[in-house]
Amino acid sequence: MEDAKDLIVRTGILLCVSGPSGVGKGSLISKVLAVRPDMCHSVSVTTRAPRPGEKEGLSYYFRTREEFLEMLGQKEILEHDEYLGNYYGTLRRPIEERMEKGLDTILDITVDGTLNTMKLIPDAVSIFLLPPSIQELRRRLNTRGTESDEVIQERLAKALEEIRMAKSFDYLVVNDDLDRSCQTILGILEAEQHRWKRMQGIEIAILKR
Ligand code: 5GP
Repeated sequence: MEDAKDLIVRTGILLCVSGPSGVGKGSLISKVLAVRPDMCHSVSVTTRAPRPGEKEGLSYYFRTREEFLEMLGQKEILEHDEYLGNYYGTLRRPIEERMEKGLDTILDITVDGTLNTMKLIPDAVSIFLLPPSIQELRRRLNTRGTESDEVIQERLAKALEEIRMAKSFDYLVVNDDLDRSCQTILGILEAEQHRWKRMQGIEIAILKR
C-alpha cells in the first residue's frame, strides 16, 4: 500500500529568510541546504558588483541597472528592492515552477522584499534572523572583511531600521549558534508542511482507502 504522505499533492513552501546584513543568513541557508538537498536557494539578480569569490549564476546574476530595469519591465522579476543603492530581485519563473512541482525554496531577501513577497504569495513563510546583540552584529560585519568601513556603517544603520520590522514576520530566530538555528529552521519547515492548508485532501483520501 502507498505511504499516506504520497496522497498529498502539496505546493512547495517558499521560505523567506531576512535579517540584517552580517546576521549570518548566507551561512545558515547553506547549512539548511546541506541537510535538505531537495530544497533550493533561489539565485537573485542584482546590480551590485561581485565580491571577491562570488560567481555569476551561483551567487547572483550580476546585471547592469539598465538590464535589471528591462527584466522588471518584462515581468521576469517577482519582487525587487533597492538596498543601499543597488537593486536586488527574485526571478519569477524558477519560483513558480518549483512551487507547482511541490519543491521547497529558500530566499535570502531584504525585509521589505519579504513583506512584498508575503502580499504576492500569502502562503510563503517568513523568518526574521536576529543577532544576539548589536555589538555582535558589528563584530561579525568587521570580521567578514568584505566591505569598507563606510559600507559597514551604512549596513549597521540599516540593521537598526530592519530589526524594528521583525514583528511583521511569522517566526523570529536569534542566530547565536549556527547548528541550533539550523535545527530551528528545519523544525519550522517540518511544522509548516503539516499545516492543514498544505495537506488538503489527505483526510478524504484516507477515508476512501
Ligand atoms: P548582499 O549585498 O549582502 O549580497 O545582499 C544585500 C541584501 O539584499 C541582503 O539583505 C539580501 O538578503 C538581500 N537580497 C538578496 N537577493 C535579494 C532579492 O532577490 N530580493 C530582495 N528583496 N533582497 C535580496
